[in-house]
Formats: sequence, structure tokens, C-alpha cells
Amino acid sequence: MVTALAVPEPRVRAALEALPGDGLPAYVYDLAGLAEHMAAVRAALPPEVELYYAAKANPEPPVLAALAPFADGFEVASGGEVAHVAAAVPGRPLAFGGPGKTPAEIAAALDAGVGRFHVESLHELRVLAHLSAGRPAPVRVLLRFDPDVPAGLLASGALAMGGGPTPFGMDAGDTDAAVRLLTGGAHPQLEPAGLHAHLASGLAAPELAAVAEAVAGAAAALARRHGFALRELNLGGGMRVDYGDPGARFDWAGYGTALARIAAGLPGVRLRIEPGRALTAYCGWYVTQVLDVKGSRGARFAVLRGGTHHLRTPATRGHDQPCAVLPVPDWPHPWPRPAAGPGPVTFVGQLCTPKDVLARGVPVAGVRAGDRVAFAMAGAYAWNISHHDFLMHPHPAVHFLPADGSATPLTRRGT
Ligand SMILES: *Cc1c(COP(=O)(O)O)cnc(C)c1O
Repeated sequence: MVTALAVPEPRVRAALEALPGDGLPAYVYDLAGLAEHMAAVRAALPPEVELYYAAKANPEPPVLAALAPFADGFEVASGGEVAHVAAAVPGRPLAFGGPGKTPAEIAAALDAGVGRFHVESLHELRVLAHLSAGRPAPVRVLLRFDPDVPAGLLASGALAMGGGPTPFGMDAGDTDAAVRLLTGGAHPQLEPAGLHAHLASGLAAPELAAVAEAVAGAAAALARRHGFALRELNLGGGMRVDYGDPGARFDWAGYGTALARIAAGLPGVRLRIEPGRALTAYCGWYVTQVLDVKGSRGARFAVLRGGTHHLRTPATRGHDQPCAVLPVPDWPHPWPRPAAGPGPVTFVGQLCTPKDVLARGVPVAGVRAGDRVAFAMAGAYAWNISHHDFLMHPHPAVHFLPADGSATPLTRRGT
């Protein structure tokens, strides 16, 4: 297995090389690249389809702000995210999803003016009905349902949230009961806006489009059966990111064509998607420095400052993170400089566990202690899903390359 090599564009490479050596490891977010990517995604989608960003993929405030001009709203999945996103992008529409919402979180979200709730169970709907009673503003409710989709479709993804027993969303019987509760007139503050489904992560466009067709058909049938007007249908996220091919992108145009077809078949229904990973993965870099290079029984290892406690993505997904070696000519030390290559080298971190591997079999031209290594595709489910304090190493610095593409010096957030 050969790990993909990443090729930072010159603007990004210059920024990665300009970081002070004592400021590594660091996350660098290319906000100009993010804006460019978002513009391309929007251009590929039919204008009538709304896009919410699933904030859990990367909630860094400058990332949220750079995304905001291209997003119709944000999907948040905890009380913490409600407060954080409302502060980072004030006034933007929020949809509160996710399992296990506490009564306190629901009440705080109502107080914060969250406009939409993705309700995960009949119990949660009853709590929401109680806590929102008497409120003047309508509370829009989308029921997260669990429709049957053709077998095998979800299996091609990295994570399945449907297609079998799942803690997410509602069973068919509970969905029917929830629709009756919503439309029965006892809770006039609740507006039965529609349905929500997020069944898998990591699907390619043809599979995700087929899932969307099946979800749309099931949603229309459910609304017909109950005689309730389906106004909104959220098809979730889950667009595939291929970590083995950093230059590849999800086929947004193909998916957009499928969404236009679905929208045409559902007049009066507002379609919405809520991607996370496929929006922000590409804008993030984790750059660090080689501390040691050594051999072990014929294999070569480069030990890096940092590791999977900063970038857990390859460990959780079992992949190799694409990366680039940025050679540093200077070696200011009086002791010899360890080196390896050309040939495959495995990049590991500083943690005392064999799981602390960022990339195996990287086909380097050469790598020496003191060189920099930049890991690409570190903008989603990266820093924020990592076990930061294991072994008590320092946290990385965080830098944001400005969204206007200007040559402003890197900004640094406290570490
Ligand atoms: C995590 C999540 C998303 C985003 O998924 P990606 O795979 O990052 O696109 C969207 N909707 C829900 C309900 C989620 O839990």
C-alpha cells in the first residue's frame, strides 16, 4: 500500500514553509481555498437546493465565517455547538439535530432562537412540545426518519447510520405517531415542516443520489399517507472524501443533477443537504517536523513532533493521511543528522502506542530529521475529534490564511 503524496499549491506551500520552526506542529487553514471550493460546490448545485454546513466537521470560527456566504445555515448537534455557532456566525439559521438532546439543551436552543429541530425520537418530540408550549414563534420540526433504501446502497460508505438497527432517527411506527402528534392540533407552536434523513457517510455521488431518490420517495409516501403537507426535506450529508486521492472531489455536478430531478418530482418541497467533511476536509493542513529517523527490521520510520493526538483522522478511519515532505536544508546541531530514502517511510507520532501512525509506506525521495512534513486533507474531523491531552504533549498552533487571498502574515490563535 502506497500513501498518496500531497502537493500543496505554491501559495499554501510558501505559508507552510514560512511558519517558525518553534511554532510546530501547526494547523493551517486555507480560507481562500475553502471559499473557492465552496463557490464551486454552490455552482454545481441547483439554486433551489439549500445547503447547511454540519458544524461538527470543523467548528473553528474563521472556518464558519469563511463558509457563511456560501451556506444557507448551519446544522448543530449539541448545546455547545448551538452556543458556539450562534456566536461565530450571528443571525444565521441553525438546525438542531443529533441524538440525546437534553431538556436543558432544547430549552437553551429555543431561547437562542434556533429555527429548526431535527427530532430524533417520539420522546424527544414530547419534550420539545412541552418546553416550547406557549412560545409565540413557530418551532419548525423535521422528523428524522429511517426509510428503507435498497440493500447494499449504504454498505459502500464508510459509516452507515441506517439500513439496520440504529440509534438515529425513528422507526416507522414511531414516525407515524410523531406525525400524528405534530399534526393533531394540540401543539400549535410546532410547525410540521418535514422530514430529515442522514443514512450514511462516505458515499460517492451515484450511490448518494440513489439514496436521496429512495428517501424522497419514502418521504412523499409518508406525507401522502398522513395527508400532511411536506414542505422541507433534508437529505443529510455524507458526501465521499477519498483520502487516497487528494486531487479528487465528490461529483457535486452529478449529485446536483440528481437533486434537480428529485426537486422537480416534489413541487412545493424545499430540498436541503447538510454536508460536513466534503466541504472542509481539503482546506486544512497539519504541518510538523521530523524528530528522528530510524530503521526497524528492514522498515524505515520517521518520528514526528505531534501525532494522532492532534490528527486522529487516519487512526479512526484506518487510512494513511496524504502528505508532503518539505525539505529544510539547515541542520544547526553538532550531532549527525539521521536520514532515510529514497523509498517507503512510515510516519509516526510521539505517542507510546502502535496506533500512533499518520501514514504508512510514504514513497519519499528522502527525509531527514529537521525536515517538515505537511499532511493534507486535515480540515474535517481532524483536530476537533482528537484526544488532545493523551501524554500531555503541547497543543498545535492554529493559523488561518486569509479568505481574500491577500499576503497578510499568518494569524495565530493561542495554543
Ligand atoms: C455528521 C452529520 C452530517 C455530516 O456528515 P459528513 O459525512 O461530514 O458530510 C450531516 N448530518 C448529520 C445528521 C450528521 O450527523
